[in-house]
Amino acid sequence: MQLGVLSGKVAVVTASTQGIGLAIARRLARDGAQVMISSRKQASVDKALEQLRAEGLDALGTVCHVGKREDREALVSQTLKRYGAIDILVSNAAANPFAGRVLDCSEEAWDKIFEINVKAALLLTKLVVPHMEQQGGGSIVLVGSVSGYQPFPDIGPYSISKTALLGLNKVLANELAPANIRVNCLAPGIIKTQFSSFLWLDDSLRQQLERTIAMRRIGEPEECAGTVSFLCSQDAAYITGETIVVAGGLQCRL
Ligand code: NAP
Repeated sequence: MQLGVLSGKVAVVTASTQGIGLAIARRLARDGAQVMISSRKQASVDKALEQLRAEGLDALGTVCHVGKREDREALVSQTLKRYGAIDILVSNAAANPFAGRVLDCSEEAWDKIFEINVKAALLLTKLVVPHMEQQGGGSIVLVGSVSGYQPFPDIGPYSISKTALLGLNKVLANELAPANIRVNCLAPGIIKTQFSSFLWLDDSLRQQLERTIAMRRIGEPEECAGTVSFLCSQDAAYITGETIVVAGGLQCRL
């Protein structure tokens, strides 16, 4: 039997009960990793676990709202208790509670966006790094967005939080390289999930958006997953601090 590129690795993926996170969890497991999935609701965790196990994949799950310290700690301790290690962290959770001009964003909405999208990614990284250091290395992938390069209209605060992740990626990569921990970022374009449904449910808006994409279509969650598996694999052993855009040729630059 041929071993997968992630055989022997243990991966933690946040916000992984649907959409891009679930596609990443599934792909990491298919590539041989043991995967701990998580999200805010037990029912979502149970449903996703059922799907993964029906496919014969090695996955466990637990509730983790990334904005709650006790949930982040439980995610890490549960993974260590049940799988005995953490080699990979995929920080995928994001919140987008506000649409409109950035100047109209309430302090509460701004704080929520930065707490979930940026601060929780850092705090979770802080929790896993000591274990990765002890094991001699690891790989972290932050899920950003093309909106971090080119802010999307009406979701300025969310876009700014994703720009912050590009900076966090660079800083963490630099600081963790001596510990043999690589940190990279995935920047999806417009991907067909519930999160982005306001962009593609309306036919005329979708068609307008598709005209801005070189490949003239919205992406699928599975089209993001292979990039994350690659970044966590030995093939990416000399890659750190990078952001890979998966956006069908949507033009974006910082
Ligand atoms: P999605 O399909 O709507 O899935 C969201 C997932 O996140 C669900 O599993 C949800 O489960 C979980 N979740 C939500 N809030 C959470 C929290 N505070 N803590 C933990 N889990 C939470 O979303 P998606 O489109 O795949 O988005 C995933 C990531 O991709 C996000 O970082 C997003 O910014 C990024 N992204 C998406 C697109 C796109 O077009 N879809 C484009 C660029 C970037 P529960 O409800 O059970 O918590």
